[in-house]
Amino acid sequence: MTRYFLTTAIDYVNSRPHLGTAYEKVCADVIARYKRLRGFETRFLMGNDEHSQNVYKAALEQRLDPLAYCDRMEEEFRKTWARLDISFDDFIRTTEPRHRIGVTHLAQRIYDAGDIYEGVYEGWYCVSCEEFKQEKDLVDGRCPLHPTLTPEWITEKNYFFRLSKYQQPLLDHFAAHPEFLQPDIRRNEILRLIEGGLTDISVSRAGQSWGIPLPFDPGSVVYVWFDALINYASAVGLGGDGPLFERWWPANLHVIGKDITRFHTVIWPAMLMAARIPLPKQVFGHGFMTLNGQRMSKTLGTIIDPIALADRFGPTGHDPLRLYLVKEVVFGSDGDFAWERYDDRYNADLANNLGNLVSRVSAMAHRYRGGRLAPAAAGSDQLTRLAEQVVADYQRAMDGLSLHEGAAAAYRLIDGTNEFIAATAPWTLAKDASAADRLTQVLFDAAEAIRLAAVLLEPIMPASCREILRRVGAPVERLHFERDGCWRNSGERTLVQEGPLWPRKEHTTVTDNQTKPEGVPPAAGAPALVPETPVKAPDPATVPGAPGVPPAAAVAERISIDDFMKVELRTAKVLAAERVPKSKRLLKLQVDAGTEHRTLVAGIAEAYEPEALIGRTVVIVFNLKPATLMGIESNGMVLAASPEGGKPIVVGFDDPPPPGSRVR
Ligand SMILES: [Zn+2]
Repeated sequence: MTRYFLTTAIDYVNSRPHLGTAYEKVCADVIARYKRLRGFETRFLMGNDEHSQNVYKAALEQRLDPLAYCDRMEEEFRKTWARLDISFDDFIRTTEPRHRIGVTHLAQRIYDAGDIYEGVYEGWYCVSCEEFKQEKDLVDGRCPLHPTLTPEWITEKNYFFRLSKYQQPLLDHFAAHPEFLQPDIRRNEILRLIEGGLTDISVSRAGQSWGIPLPFDPGSVVYVWFDALINYASAVGLGGDGPLFERWWPANLHVIGKDITRFHTVIWPAMLMAARIPLPKQVFGHGFMTLNGQRMSKTLGTIIDPIALADRFGPTGHDPLRLYLVKEVVFGSDGDFAWERYDDRYNADLANNLGNLVSRVSAMAHRYRGGRLAPAAAGSDQLTRLAEQVVADYQRAMDGLSLHEGAAAAYRLIDGTNEFIAATAPWTLAKDASAADRLTQVLFDAAEAIRLAAVLLEPIMPASCREILRRVGAPVERLHFERDGCWRNSGERTLVQEGPLWPRKEHTTVTDNQTKPEGVPPAAGAPALVPETPVKAPDPATVPGAPGVPPAAAVAERISIDDFMKVELRTAKVLAAERVPKSKRLLKLQVDAGTEHRTLVAGIAEAYEPEALIGRTVVIVFNLKPATLMGIESNGMVLAASPEGGKPIVVGFDDPPPPGSRVR
C-alpha cells in the first residue's frame, strides 16, 4: 500500500487556537481524509511548539511551571481539534523525549558535517518575534510587527548554520522538483529570495534554560525555530526509532502558512541536506483568513474562536464550517470570513441545496415506492455522463491540492441532480401508470447521484456525508474510492425519511458596524461577534384575509390608489415546499423575497405537489400581518386565482423577474 505522510505547522501555545489556525488544520484534514479515501496508508501529524521564550514568560506570569502551562494549552488545542473533527494520527509536543532525541541527533549530524560553527552574534532581537532583526527590518528602530516594544541589542556567543553554502543546491532542487513548493506564486517569491543570496543563520541561544541543549555545548539551547522544524522528523523516530523513520520519511507534504514558507523551503531543506537526509516531497503555503476583509487582531477583538463557529449550526456544525473554509476559499490564496456570508452559504449550499435534495428524494421514494428503490431500467444518460465527468474533475483537483475545485465538482453533481428532478418531474410520472418503471429509475438515479456526491464530499464533511449515505440507503463502514466513487445502477436501497439535515438558519439582519466592534473586545466566551437579531416583522397593515387563503369575493366598493398602494406585493422565489401535516389543503413554503427569506403557508396543496413549486417565482403579499395556521407562523400570502368550482392557480410569470420585485 502506498504511504502518505502529511503534517501541519505546529502551533505556538502562547495563545488559544483561532480561525486562522483552524483553517490550516481543516484543509490538511481534508487532504488526509482524501488520501485515506483513495486507499493510501496515511499518517497525519499535528502538534504544539512549546520551546518559545514567550511560552516560558507566559507560564511564569501565571505562576505555572512551563510544562504545566503547556499541558493546559494542549487540552485547549485538542478540544478544538476534536470539535472540528480533525483526524490527526499523531500529535507531537516539542517538550517530548522523542523530539529531544531527534533535535539532538540532527544538530550533532550537521555539526559533524562541519556546517555548524561558533561565532558571536551582535545585533537587534525582537523578543516577541523571537527573531534576530537586521537594521533594514526595523521601522523607526522598532519591529514593524511589535511597534510598542523596543528591540534588544544582543551580543552573545551563538552557533551558526552555514546556510550560505546551500544556495546552489537549493536552486538545483527547485529546478529539478517544480512541485516542491506550491502554489506557484510562493515558489517564485522563494526563488527570488534564494537567488539574492543566503546568509548564515544563528541556531542557538546562550544562557537560557527553556529549550533543548546543544549536544556539543550544553550551555546553549537550540534556537526555537531550528528546534520546531525538526518535529516533522522526530515524530517519526529520527535518531531513535530507525524502522519507523524508514517507514515514513521523507514526508509527502508539509501544509503551512505563507508567512513561514522561507523556513520550510530554504532553511529546513538546507538542514536536511547538511545531514544527508532526504527532503520532504512537497510544501504547500496556504493564505490567510481575514475577518470582514481585515486582518484578525487580538487588540481589535477580531479573533474568532472556531468552536463558536461550529456551534452556530448545532452538534455537527463543524461540517458547515469545514465546507465554507474549503469551498469559499481558493486553497493557496487569502480568504475572508463574514458572519452573513457564513449563514448565506449554509442556507444556500446545505439547507436549500444538498439537504433539501436529500429530503425531497427520500420523501418521493417513500410516497411513490414505500422507500425501497431498485433499478428498473438503464440509468439516466444525462446523470451518468455528468457523474463520470465530475468524478474525473474531482480526482484531478484533489490530487493537485485544488481543494476548492474538488468541492465545486461535487456540487456540480448536486446541481445536476436538482435539474434532473425538475426535468423528469417525478410527481407527473406518478400520475401515469405506464410510466411506473421510468419513475422508479428516475428516483433511483437521483438517490445514486446523491450517494456519489456524498462520497466525494466525505473528506470535507465526514459526519454529514455518512448520515447522507445512511439516508439514501447506502451506508458504508469504510469508504474506498475505487469501489464507491463511481456510478452504480445496481442493488436495492431502503431510503430513510427523517427531519431536515440542515434546518434553515433564519435570516439575521447584520449591519456592517456590528461585525466590526473596533476597540471593543467581545465578551469572554461570546459565541459570535454578531448578536442574533430576529427577522424584522413587516409593518402592521390593515389588509383583510388570512394568509394563504384566497381573498374573499370581489367587493363592489372601489378603493383609491392610496388604499391599493398600502398592499405591498412582491415577487418571491420558492426555495422549499412541504405538506403541512394533517392538512389536505395547506403547504408550507420557504421563499426568497429578495431582501429576506420567509416562511409562509398557502392553501394550494390540492392543486400543487410541493416539489413542483420549488424554483417557481410567485407573488406574495409582503406586508401582511403574521398569522399562525396549523401551528406554523405564516409571514405573507401567496396570490392565486380561484376559479369557480376549480382548484387554485398560483399567479406566475412568463419570464420571472428577480425575487423581491415590487408588483403593482
Ligand atoms: Zn517583533
